Amino acid sequence: MNYSKILILIICITFNLNAQNKSQIENNFQDNITYVINNVNIIPMTKDNKVVENATVVIQNQKIISINDTIPTNAEIIDGTGKWLIPGLIDMHVHTNADLNFKENSSTQGATFFMDTQDVMTTYIANGVTTIFELGGRVEHFGQRNEITKGKVIGPRMAIAPMINGGDPNNGGRIVNNASDARQAVRSAKAEGYNFIKAYSHLNIESFKALVDEAQKQGLKVVGHIPDSFKGKTEEAFVSNFGLVAHAEEFSKQIRNQEKTKEDAQRFAQISKKNNTWLIPNLIAIVKIRDQVQSLDSIGTMESLKYVHPLLQDKWLNSNNYNKHSSPKFINYLDSLIIFHKEMVVAFKEAGVPMVVGTDAGVSGVVTGFALHDELELLVDAGLTNHEALVSATRLPSEWLEINEIVGTIEVGKYADLLLLDANPLENIHNTRKINGVFVNGNWVDKKKIDKMLSELADWNTSMKEKYKWKNRKEY
Ligand SMILES: [Zn+2]
Repeated sequence: MNYSKILILIICITFNLNAQNKSQIENNFQDNITYVINNVNIIPMTKDNKVVENATVVIQNQKIISINDTIPTNAEIIDGTGKWLIPGLIDMHVHTNADLNFKENSSTQGATFFMDTQDVMTTYIANGVTTIFELGGRVEHFGQRNEITKGKVIGPRMAIAPMINGGDPNNGGRIVNNASDARQAVRSAKAEGYNFIKAYSHLNIESFKALVDEAQKQGLKVVGHIPDSFKGKTEEAFVSNFGLVAHAEEFSKQIRNQEKTKEDAQRFAQISKKNNTWLIPNLIAIVKIRDQVQSLDSIGTMESLKYVHPLLQDKWLNSNNYNKHSSPKFINYLDSLIIFHKEMVVAFKEAGVPMVVGTDAGVSGVVTGFALHDELELLVDAGLTNHEALVSATRLPSEWLEINEIVGTIEVGKYADLLLLDANPLENIHNTRKINGVFVNGNWVDKKKIDKMLSELADWNTSMKEKYKWKNRKEY
C-alpha cells in the first residue's frame, strides 16, 4: 500500500459542503464609528518591529488614521490597558466550504446544497484570521467574497486560486495534459477573475512548465504541489514564477520511498532559495491526520468540532478515510513525516527561505480559524522564534499576496485588520489564543460578540446533527 498516495488523494481534494440557511445574523458589518484604542502595546510586525508601549490608535473609515496623535471627539473608546495589538492573521492555505451540487445538473439548476456564508466565516473571525488564501477556488468563493465586501457577512479578505491538475479529464475540474491546454487553462482562469493559480500533483512536466510560464506572462503567481512527474528531478520543477510550495509534504513525496535526512531538507531549502520559491510548511494537517489514523477519539474530543458543519462532523467521525486505512505502518510513516517536516522548517530558516503559515483547513480534523493557532505553536516547536512565527502569519503572507500596502503590519494608512490580545504573543505563542477582540476591515468585533457568534453556530450545528448524515448526502 502506498500511503503517501492515499494522502495525496485525500489531503487536498476536499469537497466543499453546504447547508440549509440558518437565520442570518442581522448585521451590516460596515460601520462608520471612529474607534480609539487607548493605552495599548502595539506589536507592529514591521521589519524593525519596535514595540510601541501604551499607545493610542485611532481607526476611522476602515483604516488606522493615527498612532499617538490627536484623539477625535465622539469616538468609541476601547481600553487597551495591559493588552497587545498585532496585525490580523493570514492563513495561506485553506479550503472553505461553499455551496455545491450533490445531484445532477439541469439547465436551470446550480447548487443544491447551501452553506450559510456567515457560519463558514465565523470561525476565521473568532480566531483573528482576517485574510485567507483559498486554494481550491470555485465560482462560489467569489460569491462569498462579494457577500463580505457588501457587508452582509463579516469575514476575512479572500485571495482565491483555482486548482489546475493533470490526468483523466473525466475526473472533472480543470484538467490539462499538454502545454497548449495548460496555457489556455491559465488564460481562462484569468478571464474568470482569478489572480493566482494552484498547480496540482498530476500535471506532467510539459504542462506544469507551460502553466507556470503562461501564468507569469499573464501576471498570475503560482502556488502548488510539486507534481509527481518531477520525482527524481525535483529541481526541474523550480522554474521562474513557481512562487510558493503548498506543503512541506510536497518535498517528502519527492523522496517517498527513501529515508528522509537533514541533508535532504537542506537540499530542498537550497533548491527553493535559488528560485525564490517560498514554503507553506503546513505542519498541522499531518499531525491531525496522524491523530485520526491512530484513533477517531482525536476527532470526537476536539473542542472546536462543534463549530464544524454537522454534515462534515458526521463524515469525519463516521466515514473517515484516513482512519479506514489505519495500520501501524501508516502511523509510522506519518510520524516520520512529522519529524522530517520540522527538520525542513529548520533547514529553510537557516537557508533564509521565507515561510508563510498555512493550515490546509477543511481537511478532516483541521478546523478553519482554530487551526492557525495550532500551526503557530507547531512552528515554534519546530524551531521558529515566537516573533518569526508571527511574521509568517502577518507581514510575509501579505508580501507574497502583494497586499502589503494595505494590511500585514500595524501602520498609519493601512486597513484596520487587527487582533487585540490579553497577553504578549512575543513572550508565549499560546497568547495568540487570548483574544479580546478583532478588527476586521475597521469593524470592531469584541469578545462578547465573538462568543455569541460562536455559541449560536455551535447550537445550530448541534441541533441539525440528525438532519445531516454523510451517507444521505446525495439526497441533499
Ligand atoms: Zn490543500
